[in-house]
Amino acid sequence: MSDPPSRLELLHFARRVVVQQAMASLAQLDGWIADEERREAERRRGEEARPSRPEWLIERGLNRDNVVAVHQGDCWDAGKRHVTVTRAQAVEALRQQVPACTQCRPDTALGLLE
Ligand SMILES: [Zn+2]
Repeated sequence: MSDPPSRLELLHFARRVVVQQAMASLAQLDGWIADEERREAERRRGEEARPSRPEWLIERGLNRDNVVAVHQGDCWDAGKRHVTVTRAQAVEALRQQVPACTQCRPDTALGLLE
């Protein structure tokens, strides 16, 4: 039979337990921090990936083939039937004599007028 642990041995044992618990808590906390940092990074990436507002719109008439006007992307007068187009497509449409909207003047914005 060994002697019962001394008070000093018990204190050392208690110290080891406290250190282990603290290390476990620290690891858990670090895990939460890492998770949160990952979520934050994903949220930022999501915002960057979100499409910005369209720059150019082509408004169509009731007939699918009928093109009514070219607009800037934020034009309030673009109507309900419009498609988003690239800058090159907007320029091409204006060259094809598609009227430029008189409200937002995409021809001026595209630098096609003096
Ligand atoms: Zn317009």
